Amino acid sequence: MKEILCIVCPNGCEMSIDDDGFISGNLCGRGADFAKVEITRPMRTLTTTVKTMFLSAPVVSVRTDSEIPKANIPDVMRFLNSLTIDKKLGVGDAVAENVLGLNSNVIVTGAF
Ligand code: SF4
Repeated sequence: MKEILCIVCPNGCEMSIDDDGFISGNLCGRGADFAKVEITRPMRTLTTTVKTMFLSAPVVSVRTDSEIPKANIPDVMRFLNSLTIDKKLGVGDAVAENVLGLNSNVIVTGAF
């Protein structure tokens, strides 16, 4: 038996998956889909900050524009921590395209 908290919506259903793969505790199918991915290859949207060279905004908030494997988050964080933005970017502009070959772009989410 494995316990999984569904993070797809604010309801936060506490789900269980038994040894036969039967899922319970979910209020909707999205929870079951989340649980199936979570036990095989968990995915997350990464939100963080990246340094800039601008004193008025030393860091800018960013996120991946799609979910990436949870296991790759430390590598992506190391990569993003090595960057320094040296030009003004707008919300939605890419800081890194196809970051680490994960088919996800890292985009600006806060104006600076
Ligand atoms: S199972 Fe459905 S209702 Fe429950 S938290 Fe997940 S998405 Fe929300």
